[in-house]
Amino acid sequence: MRTKYAAGNWKMNLTFEEGQILFSEVTNMVKDEVVNPNVKVVMGVPAPYLSSFSKLINTDKVSIAAQNCHPEASGAFTGEMSVGMLASAGVDHIIIGHSERREYFNESDEFIAAKVNAILAGGLTPIFCCGETLEQREAGIHFDFVKGQLTKGLFQLSAEELQKVVIAYEPIWAIGTGVTASSDQAQEMHKALRAHLASKYGADVAANISILYGGSVKPGNAGELFAQPDIDGGLVGGASLDSRGFTDIAKAFP
Ligand code: 13P
Repeated sequence: MRTKYAAGNWKMNLTFEEGQILFSEVTNMVKDEVVNPNVKVVMGVPAPYLSSFSKLINTDKVSIAAQNCHPEASGAFTGEMSVGMLASAGVDHIIIGHSERREYFNESDEFIAAKVNAILAGGLTPIFCCGETLEQREAGIHFDFVKGQLTKGLFQLSAEELQKVVIAYEPIWAIGTGVTASSDQAQEMHKALRAHLASKYGADVAANISILYGGSVKPGNAGELFAQPDIDGGLVGGASLDSRGFTDIAKAFP
């Protein structure tokens, strides 16, 4: 049985105080309410809050994620954070390859692959994001494009390493737009990505990889998305900024 994820990506939102309240509320609700025991709740919070908020975790169902890292272990990289630094601040997951970083910070597939390697070498879990633009979908090249992102970002890994990676499929046209991929569209892509992993690593390995969907996931659509056979949870942006809504998303698994 694959691990299921309700992962939040707060992006560049909330003050320290606001974040502290939200983080505590979610951890308490997840601890006290009935959440499927196979679900991991992960909150991707702004970097300056990681160390402090990691100490608020009071249940093993909740983990804390960074939203970025640098692949080098240390050195003259002003403003950057290494995997070792994040681990020492209590972080266990790192979101990488998000479309916003690929687009606004010109992150290449090669750079993202180097981050994957560094995260795994440091013993942490990468949440590897991928996804196509609306233009690519309309041109009918979306399957090939996203499969290519997996090839370039992950296929350097051994089968053992790959099984420590979490993938998040986030079609760019669905991020922050209120337009969710239909559960059929998302399932179709997730199935294609799992088949792509199977083509290199075999079906047994591919069956162990958690593939999350991201893009306007809300409490009202999470249940239908998470009921799809190849959708193992969500990477949630806007709706992760509300403690009740995000906890309800964590409770939406069948
Ligand atoms: P929204 O849920 O706000 O569409 O954001 C999705 C996302 O980018 C999560 O990483």
